[in-house]
Amino acid sequence: MLRFDNIVFGPIHSRRLGRSLGINLLPRDGKICNFDCIYCECGWNAEGRTATGLPTCEEISQALENKMLDMKEKGEDLDSITFSGHGEPTLHPEFPAIIARTIELRDLHFPGRKISVLSNASMLDHDEIVEALKKVDCAILKLDAPNDAQARYINRPNSGYSVEKVTEGMKKFDGHFILQTMMLGSQGLDYRKDPAALQAWKDIVRELRPSAVMVYSLDRPSPQADLEKIPACELELMLKDLTDEGINLTIY
Ligand code: SF4
Repeated sequence: MLRFDNIVFGPIHSRRLGRSLGINLLPRDGKICNFDCIYCECGWNAEGRTATGLPTCEEISQALENKMLDMKEKGEDLDSITFSGHGEPTLHPEFPAIIARTIELRDLHFPGRKISVLSNASMLDHDEIVEALKKVDCAILKLDAPNDAQARYINRPNSGYSVEKVTEGMKKFDGHFILQTMMLGSQGLDYRKDPAALQAWKDIVRELRPSAVMVYSLDRPSPQADLEKIPACELELMLKDLTDEGINLTIY
């Protein structure tokens, strides 16, 4: 289920990020994440052992600059640069340096384009990670479950994860982040059938007041087979009170 052969991939077109260059800080031949989500499009961690390890900051910035120069030569433009890939980007030991170098390259070759990071928000108790994420235009931070038991079911995080710790970390952004939540039908978490969970998640959104909320349902094959996609029209109804209150929420 691994998807990216190169450190820098694309540009790919997406509704939320436009024409975007992707950066995979994780191995090309495996997955590294401190979650093991039941819906992860990269598959289970156990099936994603790597033989190559992580690319270095130098390799990443070289690959990015080569791609940017190639695009400029061909007269191609882009809207954004997005860190995503085979796992959790903030686990890379050189993450702050990689962000700093990416900002330099963006300013040099494609000034004004947005840099986004898709993160599971598990490292927000590390100051250097928070500082690096604050430097990018869009820190897109995951919170799928409103409590630890349901997070253990859907995200299967390493020990030490707690929803409270993550929401405390998110508060450091003073609302300057995008909250990302997967809502799907499953045995252990189904917001359609669990009003208390839905209410608790909405309370967290109201407290954090992120600049935007992205809600997803299943789009790609998932490692756990018995998951159900929730239709967008159902999600719209479930979340209408938040949009009515002025929360900038989009369903993907
Ligand atoms: S946090 Fe992302 S990369 Fe990690 S297991 Fe979940 S979906 Fe996959």
